[in-house]
Order: sequence, then C-alpha cells, then structure tokens
Amino acid sequence: MKSICLVIIYILLTSFSFNSNNRINTVINSKMSSTILKLIPTDPDFVPNEQNQIKAKAFLKNVFKHSDIEFNTTENVEFVDPGANFETVNCNLCGHTIDIQAWQNAMDKAYNTKFKVLTFITPCCQKTTSLNDLKYHWAAGFAKFEISILDPSSEIKTDDLTELNKILTTKINVIWAHY
Ligand SMILES: [Zn+2]
Repeated sequence: MKSICLVIIYILLTSFSFNSNNRINTVINSKMSSTILKLIPTDPDFVPNEQNQIKAKAFLKNVFKHSDIEFNTTENVEFVDPGANFETVNCNLCGHTIDIQAWQNAMDKAYNTKFKVLTFITPCCQKTTSLNDLKYHWAAGFAKFEISILDPSSEIKTDDLTELNKILTTKINVIWAHY
C-alpha cells in the first residue's frame, strides 16, 4: 500500500513538472507577440490618488483574472502608443489625414518640453489643437498614469469601464497595443 502511494506521488510530481514546463514554454512563445490593453486618463497630467488606485487594482484583478496587470506612474507625461497597431493620425477638427512627418516634427518639439506643451497647429485647416486630441488610429494618447493589462482574454466591457471611471474619478481612454 505504501509503495503504491509513493508511485502515485511520483506520477503526480513528474506530471506536474511536465505541465509546468509546458506552461512556461507557452508563456515564452506568447511573449514573442503580445497584446497590451492600456488604460489612461483623458487628461495627460491626471494621476489618481493611491487609495483609488488600490481599489482599481482589486477591481481589474477580478475582471481580468488571468492577466498580469501593471500600474505605472511616470514623472513626466509620456506618449502611450499602440505599438504595431499605429497606422494613421487624423485632424480632430476637419478629419484630414495628418502628414506623418509634420506630426513627427511636432512630437519632437513637444518631447523637448517633456510633453508639457502639446500644442499642434493643424497643417490641413490651420487651427490650434493638441497632440492629445488628434484622432489616432489605432487609439493613442499622452499620460503620466497608465494601467497595462497583458494579453487580456477579452475586451473591457462598457459597464466595467464606467465603473473604472468612477473608481479613478476620471474618464479613461482605451488603447490596444500590439508588439
Ligand atoms: Zn484639419
């Protein structure tokens, strides 16, 4: 009886280590191409207070049970990009496609102000807007505070987003990045 028990334990142990190796390989493979759901406040300077961040973390852990979730706050505003999903930038005032070089030049200028000044004169309709208000396809934005959800199994539902807005006391923009 004792030896049977030992054999069963041995089988359990070896099958566990086999499975866990497989799991690690799956994780490594999926890391080669990953999707990150990025959630940022619409106001680039807004950073939710610590207590609300703790509440948001608990809330999101329950929504995205199987994903790594990271909260990150930077000293300066940063451009939050959609990675390989970045395709075009359009004027938020007239809808015209913005020449990428004109946008890149404005980004360089803004970068020199540590993205404190995001002013953009639209080449299409000659109006003043903000780099943050341009229509990015896919969505992009500027933020000091960012939530990253790695390889989420689903999109964020409208109700969950509304709840998150309430918890963090801000409107949240959704960015889908692919790397
Ligand atoms: Zn325009």
